[in-house]
Amino acid sequence: MISRLEDRVALVTGAGSGIGAATHRRLLADGARTYTVDMKGDVDCIADVTQPGIAELLVSKTLERYGRLDILVPCAGISAYEAIEGHSDEHWQRTLNVNVTAVFQLIRASIVHLKASPYGRIIAIGSTLSCFGAAGLTAYSTSKHAILGMTRSLAGELGRFGITVNCVEPGAIETGMTEAAFRDPDYKKYWENKAALGRLGQPEDVADVIAFLASDDARFMSGQGVMVDGGAMQSI
Ligand code: NAD
Repeated sequence: MISRLEDRVALVTGAGSGIGAATHRRLLADGARTYTVDMKGDVDCIADVTQPGIAELLVSKTLERYGRLDILVPCAGISAYEAIEGHSDEHWQRTLNVNVTAVFQLIRASIVHLKASPYGRIIAIGSTLSCFGAAGLTAYSTSKHAILGMTRSLAGELGRFGITVNCVEPGAIETGMTEAAFRDPDYKKYWENKAALGRLGQPEDVADVIAFLASDDARFMSGQGVMVDGGAMQSI
């Protein structure tokens, strides 16, 4: 049987940990070849995605190795709780640089190759905070709202080239990003109880949806933000 992503090449950032690492594993299991990037971990390229010129370099390295690019998953992201008084210019700018500008630059650098692919796919990483706010996460929530706006605009622009653009919107997922927060048992219990499914999410819960969006099964979906939150945000 042919695997559903056979012959396809994916570029995944943030692949050293959490959702990005699980996405890399799942795409491989579905038959794709991947080029993986992170600031740390077991990846093909150790790099900071905010460095000038890095987007073009990562795309050219992917092309050098595999000769094509079909699927882009810009997953690298950061978050930190800060009261608004603690939102320094540096905190604000770094959050937007990693979570928005680097994503935009990587998409822009990939476009010519995604247009050449018979099945170009962009799967960005939003958050339930693409649609909601959270005290202490002003910069992060702003960045994730931007990802949904980027997704919708690019879906409109790129559809005629056969490229679909969607984002996943994870809820509370156990990863490096949330490890410290979930050490607080009350915070952990709150999010477990808030999910209709009664548990925290695992990176694989999100990676499986990303792989679906990368596949032909999602060929007529574009411009969507898909919440992967165990139903947490669907009832009060
Ligand atoms: P994670 O910390 O486990 O993984 C994020 C990875 O991104 C890390 O390996 C980190 O080194 C890398 N990274 C950060 N800045 C980078 C940079 N400048 N250059 C290169 N790599 C960089 O966290 P995660 O939860 O797997 O996060 C993945 C994505 O999922 C992020 O975009 C995050 O905002 C999003 N998300 C996570 C949750 C959650 O609950 N964990 C919820 C919603 C959205």
